[in-house]
Amino acid sequence: MFEPGLIEKFKELKTPFYYYDLELLKRTLQEVKVHGIDKGFHVHYAVKANFNVELLKIIRQSGMGVDCVSGPEIERAVETGFSPSQIAFAGVGKTDDEIRTGLKHNIFSFNCESLQELEVLNGLAEKEGRTASVSIRLNPNVEAKTHRYITTGLNENKFGITIEKLPMLFSILPELDHLKLTGIHFHIGSQITELKPYYDLCEKVEIVQRLFEKEGHKLQHINVGGGYGINYLEPDAEPIPDFKAFFQVFEENLTLRKNQQLHFELGRSVVGQCGSLISRVLYIKEGLETNFAVLDAGMTELIRPALYQAMHRVDSLTSNMSPKMYDVVGPICESSDTFRQGVWLPELRRGDLVAIRSAGAYGEVMSSGFNLRERIRSYYSDFAKSTL
Ligand SMILES: *Cc1c(COP(=O)(O)O)cnc(C)c1O
Repeated sequence: MFEPGLIEKFKELKTPFYYYDLELLKRTLQEVKVHGIDKGFHVHYAVKANFNVELLKIIRQSGMGVDCVSGPEIERAVETGFSPSQIAFAGVGKTDDEIRTGLKHNIFSFNCESLQELEVLNGLAEKEGRTASVSIRLNPNVEAKTHRYITTGLNENKFGITIEKLPMLFSILPELDHLKLTGIHFHIGSQITELKPYYDLCEKVEIVQRLFEKEGHKLQHINVGGGYGINYLEPDAEPIPDFKAFFQVFEENLTLRKNQQLHFELGRSVVGQCGSLISRVLYIKEGLETNFAVLDAGMTELIRPALYQAMHRVDSLTSNMSPKMYDVVGPICESSDTFRQGVWLPELRRGDLVAIRSAGAYGEVMSSGFNLRERIRSYYSDFAKSTL
């Protein structure tokens, strides 16, 4: 991923910064196209994983739609050229303003997460003289086998409507005459690396679908969300997730009704591997148990390790000396501001460059201004696109 010429270029740049390999992104999108879109599936890119405009433009060209979780994400998607007919809008806490943004653009689907939200949406749609297309987000109570902060499909999670509440839904729906029920939606979690949870989800979809049919509701689409994981341990061995295996689970285990569309919402699996956080070693400090490599990037640039105990591979870009063991840490006054503990890396010195890998999803977009840190810059493999 990092040829010598590129590393020479990095040396001239002020660190830290995000670097995006647009060629890898394009190859990843091609796999989604071949195994998903070309099979007739509708794939929405989850904008929250990375709302960077340069990436969005490339993603748009692949024929994907988008999944948004805020009004500003809807606006950005429209500005970047996505058609509102390809925009799904999810979120447990949509504000009235955000709902109005969706109504104004006449988006493909409001993925509603509570009975009260349906009532509010109906009222706002009535005021605007519109009918909103609605998909009901259901909580399938499926174990996603991922970190508990990023599992979303269990009864104890705040997301979606539980299946037990469906009779209530069916009783209020007829009164909500500014809503058009078009589908059902699920999203069970993130960084899911086994296929088993998706098999379980397929079973639940069938059960739920029958409950809707029994009430006379024909569903135009089924949306099974996203959450497919990436290989954080060995990004170079698996730069593109196995989309064939992923889509196949649904192809083989879901019984779609006539003319029914199947929708997906993929975030991390699309953009995760194409981004790296490039940082310089500020100081080497020899501790009693370990050596600390103190970087100029920290949790303010990439919060995943501090937030979900996430593991990112750290590669040395400029040292090829014999290995030593390090705790690779950031400069922020929080002990959780640690990228890796006890990792073997070629001996590092002040000024050496490292790449924190697989940082394309939930990296740059979760960066913060804590400590009044400067906003993180980004560069692209096509350097002409970079904002220098
Ligand atoms: C975050 C999110 C996604 C994307 O999740 P990934 O793990 O990045 O694929 C899809 N759908 C919804 C509703 C989400 O909130």
